[in-house]
Amino acid sequence: KAIILKRPHNVLVSRKRHLLSCNINHITNKKVMDRYMRLPFPCNKILATYVWIDGSGINLRCKDRILNCMPYSPEGVPEWAFDGSSTGQATTGSSDTKLFPISVCRDPFRMEPHVLVFNEVYMGDGKPAKTNNRKFCNDLCLMHKDQEPWFGLEQEYTMLDVDGWGFGWPKGGGFPAVKYEYSYCGVGAKYIAGRDVSESHARCCLYSGLDFEGTNAEVMHACWEFQIGTTIGIKAADDMWMARFILARVGEDYGADITYHPKPMGMLHPGCGMHHNFSVKKMRTAPGGYGFIEECIKKLEKNHMKHMVNYGNDEKTNRMRLSGKFETAPFDKFSWGIASRKASIRLQRRIKENDKGFMEDRRPAADCDPYLVCGLILETCLGSAGG
Ligand code: ADP
Ligand code: MN
Ligand code: MN
Ligand code: MN
Ligand code: MN
Repeated sequence: KAIILKRPHNVLVSRKRHLLSCNINHITNKKVMDRYMRLPFPCNKILATYVWIDGSGINLRCKDRILNCMPYSPEGVPEWAFDGSSTGQATTGSSDTKLFPISVCRDPFRMEPHVLVFNEVYMGDGKPAKTNNRKFCNDLCLMHKDQEPWFGLEQEYTMLDVDGWGFGWPKGGGFPAVKYEYSYCGVGAKYIAGRDVSESHARCCLYSGLDFEGTNAEVMHACWEFQIGTTIGIKAADDMWMARFILARVGEDYGADITYHPKPMGMLHPGCGMHHNFSVKKMRTAPGGYGFIEECIKKLEKNHMKHMVNYGNDEKTNRMRLSGKFETAPFDKFSWGIASRKASIRLQRRIKENDKGFMEDRRPAADCDPYLVCGLILETCLGSAGG
């Protein structure tokens, strides 16, 4: 008699399940497609894919446009608009929503001269859309430019099969037979799943010129991480969003749905976060660097809950993740420690004797908006009124 294990309760996965059975992109005939792709492209035209964050605050949208030449900066890309009522960003009566290009890179899917363009979204009246936190972050980055803020972001994510169950997980709701201590940075068919996706994604990000730093398999089967950074100012967050777009697009080709759900498989399984590593000149300079880091930690402690409610797409699911188990600190309680993976803020081992370094904020969920998180860290540590 077959034993069918009960699925962990997870609204996101079960709701997506229905939609995902429609994804057949990875099984259409690529040889036939190749015939069309070999048609010469008009030499005076290029394709630009405009990408933006939709009303959900975590999903991305894109649409394509033909341009007459390859733009080398966002200023060279024309502004555009879309129907915000179909993306949860506007009402049908007043649906014109604007796209303002903020970064442009080589398109790794079509290759040069085609480009990807990342956009900020503005409403018809000129105000930023609800899920547009870039201005908030950029203003703070500019205000504290003299302190040269550096960010390094570690994005964890989970791959799901088109049926909504874990990528490479046993069909029918079964669980991987391996113990999790073997999967982190794991090697071997039994221990990891989805390396092709991670590998292809890394290549694409490097081709596109993002500040892509590395990858590793994570604790849970079919869960991976990549890092963006160490990057000055807003660029880490900009590149993170573009890397998320590229990952979703690579996933299409393999039939892997990428989820940033902070606790995708329920309470008995590890969660996914996006650690934010942060420093400014004053932290990186001895003597006194360590003292300044401690000062900042005190401020972060005072503002703990203000950060927590903005550190994920949905407070409830980050609460599930920050349970105090699986190398996390409890949601409601701020803590910090040297080399501690059970703390909200972790510092590196030799930070005291070096009297300089950086801090790692381990609280943000995998589905956070790095614009919000980086902005809040700057605001709390360095102040919003300058200085
Ligand atoms: P771990 O998994 O042990 O936390 P990772 O290697 O995944 O470590 O991530 C470390 C991160 O720290 C990288 O994203 C890197 O860019 C960032 N980082 C390193 N030095 C600094 C610094 N001085 N300021 C800000 N971020 C830094
Ligand atoms: Mn139309
Ligand atoms: Mn890491
Ligand atoms: Mn990790
Ligand atoms: Mn980390």
